[in-house]
Amino acid sequence: MTDTNRVFTLAKRPEGKPNRDTFELVERDVPEPGPGEALVRTLYLSVDPYMRDRMRAGESYAEPWGVGDPLEGGVVGEVVADNGTEFEAGDVVAGNLRWADFSTAAGPDLQRVDPDLAPISTALGVLGMPGRTAYFGTREVAQPDAGDTFVVTGAAGAVGSVAGQVAKLQGARVVGFAGSAEKVSFLEDDLGFDAGINYKETDDYRAALAEAAPGGVDAYFDNVGGPITDAVFTQLNVDARVAVCGQISQYNAEELPTGPRKLGQLIQKRATVEGFLIQDFAPRFEQATRQLGRWVQNGDITYRETVTEGLENAPEGFLGLFEGENIGKQLVKVADREE
Ligand code: NDP
Repeated sequence: MTDTNRVFTLAKRPEGKPNRDTFELVERDVPEPGPGEALVRTLYLSVDPYMRDRMRAGESYAEPWGVGDPLEGGVVGEVVADNGTEFEAGDVVAGNLRWADFSTAAGPDLQRVDPDLAPISTALGVLGMPGRTAYFGTREVAQPDAGDTFVVTGAAGAVGSVAGQVAKLQGARVVGFAGSAEKVSFLEDDLGFDAGINYKETDDYRAALAEAAPGGVDAYFDNVGGPITDAVFTQLNVDARVAVCGQISQYNAEELPTGPRKLGQLIQKRATVEGFLIQDFAPRFEQATRQLGRWVQNGDITYRETVTEGLENAPEGFLGLFEGENIGKQLVKVADREE
């Protein structure tokens, strides 16, 4: 085993859009697992939109990274050494670990990944945090009933692609906004959405939505915010429910834009708008993962992954999220499992 560990740190706080200079790849020694810890070799790491928020100083729901700190996030890896955990060398685990070749973690902070259930990368996507966000955000917050029209933005991404399929399983009519013709055909042809809207092909989101959802919108799962959400608000039906999951269109803004206020539209429609954080559902994660696993195994849910090869290219994987370069879950593949 090598004794060098490549680790990404936050080189500086970005202003506006991050770029390659936001990140620095440094070399450190491979860490020794302390008592009760395991040493984990990274196989896949997850890059996620919320990480943009951790690059900002100040208050957020996720603690900000300090300049010079190692970056961290969801990782699937292989245990290479154990110092008193329940794991042994060769076990596949998931946890919140460093953007690095190797990390140490306390046993209780690692979850076992079953390689026989599905490809191990899914523990960061459809069977991991994004899948669970889609599951709870759809079923518990947006709550589409059979026959309802459900609209999801960021529809071809990790969360949106699963949210739309969960809504279909609830019997809803599903419309998704996504940023390319390829993504729209993924929604309509692979995922079974009733309609997809390529928002980069029109400025008139309201007209495009009125055409795709002539009966109005009963449940809205918002991943992006901004002008698309403004347009969806104009099409809400009475008693509509809005699940505010993410606002990626605003994440690189240094100041939040003001503009025509849309809340008046909620009055006549008696609509409910609810923000949610996936951590709040933690006691029920296992239940969600089991259900999602069954759906994936029997083909009710289809998933896609976009994989960037090589730890050194992790920043490109992250930056691509803001350019819409991913279809489904964006991952970085760092290493293969040991044979
Ligand atoms: P995605 O896989 O959806 O990747 C991000 C996608 O956002 C891109 O592919 C791009 O697709 C779209 N996008 C980027 N910029 C814009 C823009 N300006 N306007 C419209 N669309 C844009 O990411 P995730 O599925 O991981 O996350 C989706 C959302 O869910 C994020 O906002 C994230 O922060 C949020 N989230 C919230 C959680 C919670 O607990 N509340 C938990 C997990 C995620 P396109 O080509 O369509 O533009």
